[in-house]
Amino acid sequence: MTKHIFVTGGVASSLGKGLTAASLGRLLKQRGLKVVIQKLDPYINVDPGTMNPFEHGEVFVTDDGGETDLDLGHYERFIDENLTTESNATTGSIYSAVIAAERHGEYLGKTVQVIPHITDEIKRRIKVLATEDTDVLITEVGGTVGDIEILPFLEAIRQFRLDVGENNICYVHVTLVPYIGPSGEHKTKPTQHSVTELRSAGIQPHAIVCRSNEPISDDLERKISRLSNVPFEGVVNAPDASSLYEIPLLLNEEGLDSYICDSLGLDNPEPDLDDWRALVSRVVSATARVRIGLIGKYVSLVDAYLSVVEALNHAGAHHGVQVEIDWIQAEEVEGMLSEGRLKDLDGIVIPGGFGERGIEGKIAAAGFTRENDIPCLGLCLGLQCMTIDFARNVLELERAHSSEFDPSSPHPVIDLMESQRDVSDMGGTMRLGTYVAQLKPESQVSAIYGEDVVSERHRHRYEFNSRYRAKFEDTNFVCSGESPDGRLVEFIELKDHPFWVATQAHPEFKSRPDRPAPLFRAFVEAALHRAEGRNPQLLQMEEEFSN
Ligand code: GLN
Repeated sequence: MTKHIFVTGGVASSLGKGLTAASLGRLLKQRGLKVVIQKLDPYINVDPGTMNPFEHGEVFVTDDGGETDLDLGHYERFIDENLTTESNATTGSIYSAVIAAERHGEYLGKTVQVIPHITDEIKRRIKVLATEDTDVLITEVGGTVGDIEILPFLEAIRQFRLDVGENNICYVHVTLVPYIGPSGEHKTKPTQHSVTELRSAGIQPHAIVCRSNEPISDDLERKISRLSNVPFEGVVNAPDASSLYEIPLLLNEEGLDSYICDSLGLDNPEPDLDDWRALVSRVVSATARVRIGLIGKYVSLVDAYLSVVEALNHAGAHHGVQVEIDWIQAEEVEGMLSEGRLKDLDGIVIPGGFGERGIEGKIAAAGFTRENDIPCLGLCLGLQCMTIDFARNVLELERAHSSEFDPSSPHPVIDLMESQRDVSDMGGTMRLGTYVAQLKPESQVSAIYGEDVVSERHRHRYEFNSRYRAKFEDTNFVCSGESPDGRLVEFIELKDHPFWVATQAHPEFKSRPDRPAPLFRAFVEAALHRAEGRNPQLLQMEEEFSN
């Protein structure tokens, strides 16, 4: 029978509940258990697909095309399993299901209410994932205890204890223990209040993870234990870590995984963390640096590009370098072309995005990297911008553009596919989830992947316009990957350039800490070559690192 761990949060949002759930998942997986993680989100949007990345961070795409919360990215990266749409449920999707059932007459004339109908649907979403081959299902409840929207979720997970039995359930509460400067102390009161709030919903936590900026004392943990009725071993401290990949190790040192295994009656062998430790030490001990410019529209919220940043970090760890990111506001690029800032970079990423703002800056950045031999990696919209730059400045196709941004362009080198033109429901027209691409033999990308057929995740509406393909391919521009039917261009690259490669997909979603996405690995390598060319000392640092 599947064991259930529920992770709730208190005191403040953004405490790292998702990372706690993900880290715990890894620790349990390293004990040989099959772990699945899911996120319940109390907001009303049916999925995060329509939410502004400025506000909510990136939309993470699963293999099966789910547009999900960015925490699923943490889960996948930490437990190294591909999750599905089912791992993310929002209030909106739960109500939609209940209302649709009501319209079909499935409630047989009953009054449809939050309890039991909404709570039953929440429980159904949890149970769907508790399949026979899942040893542990970790369910993170988004939001903070005390929020109005969270109540049905707390009620559902409270009921779960009776449904699956005392021994099969563990509630973990993540709280903040703030440091108050003037009194020079960490304070436990907010944690106490938050546990009280959780108990008033009928949930007594088994474990409390105390987030703090600096480590807190045993005495303080003892106090929290006494006041919240949680055994001392169940109160663990997770101070800020220098790398998020350190969190599983910190939680393991605090004994959280072992405590949880005992309380769930699971076998409790030591987890095998050798590889994870080696990874963390590669991440923290790298001294050489490469500077990567990320040309974005949402650069004020780093989470908007979370998977891209993580994929760069994975590639950095692979090569033993720290990737330092220069966040560049796309609208400012054109004003920067004559300064040294872009030239001083070792590489530039043009990430995905929607909407016109900053487009000309991204196109200008593409052109600058092309002309100055700067490694450039284009992701989705990035491929489109690089194509537009090439069309305008090399093929001299005047006012070439994407019809997303200039519907009257005489040269829509990026356009909607024929079949999509008449669909008015925006949500329905996206190419979402995993698609296969056939790589051109002997192309740069096929050498990078080491395979001819690859699959990556997608999330976009517009495509390279095949009507122009021959014109492009008459030059040093190579369409190096295409859909199996040959209709869609999936990868592009430039001959005679150190690295000017782009994909219509989002390979960042499949990057893993110990298995960087191939394109990111090769891009960081190219950036490293450029950095070495400019600073030969780097070579020596790298050598020292690998010895
Ligand atoms: N806006 C572009 C499209 O819809 C690119 C989307 C993206 O970068 N994810 O095709």
